[in-house]
Amino acid sequence: LLSQLDPFLLLDEFKSDSADDYVGGFPDHPHRGFETVTYMLAGRMRHRDNHGHEGLLTPGSVQWMTAGRGIIHSEMPEQESGLMHGFQLWVNPPARDKLTAPRYEEFEAGKIAVATPADGVKVRVIAGHAFGADGPVAGIVTDPLYLDVQLGPNREFAIDVPGDHNAVVYVFEGGAQIGPVGKQTVLPPQTLAALGSGERVAVRTANRPARFLLIAGRPLNEPVARYGPFVMNTQRQIREAIADFQGGRF
Ligand code: FE
Repeated sequence: LLSQLDPFLLLDEFKSDSADDYVGGFPDHPHRGFETVTYMLAGRMRHRDNHGHEGLLTPGSVQWMTAGRGIIHSEMPEQESGLMHGFQLWVNPPARDKLTAPRYEEFEAGKIAVATPADGVKVRVIAGHAFGADGPVAGIVTDPLYLDVQLGPNREFAIDVPGDHNAVVYVFEGGAQIGPVGKQTVLPPQTLAALGSGERVAVRTANRPARFLLIAGRPLNEPVARYGPFVMNTQRQIREAIADFQGGRF
């Protein structure tokens, strides 16, 4: 499955309305060798890192962090009750860009372009280009497309992704069917579907609405060596990452 997700390493959904689950947050921890895109739907989370970046993620906002050669950051909730809901996507850069300078950007909800390609079809463009709208997250080498799509009942959404890109669909509200007419697969909520490359992605709803993420990008086809928060190409580079972190060189 990992190769079908390439260049993506992880899609994590966090969702809880029980403070016990999130008040602890994620105190200082390191990352090296990849990028994270965090998309908040509900709740407030503060980011601080050792390169002087600080930001507050609010509902509908997006945070884009390039760990590059090394970053130490904390992700802590700024609420003591209520719903916390969002997604963190890990994007793998090519080997030549893994040790780039760390970077941090965030975009408030109003900066995210919204397209309505049809009645009952609402698309938030987080990264890439769709239906005449450009997402604020730009400049990632693998050209990711990252859409949050809301479909009313009995609606269809379709988009072409480049033939050599991998695509995944993650339904997080309601249910939907995916695939060409006659060969559709039902996708229940909290299901990640990896699509074959070169497909026109088509998602349709029956008598209830749905909301899903569509994420696509150009695969790297490079070896992946992974150890917790470090994602490199070789085990030797992982050992260097651990040594550099322990040596205070992040
Ligand atoms: Fe982190």
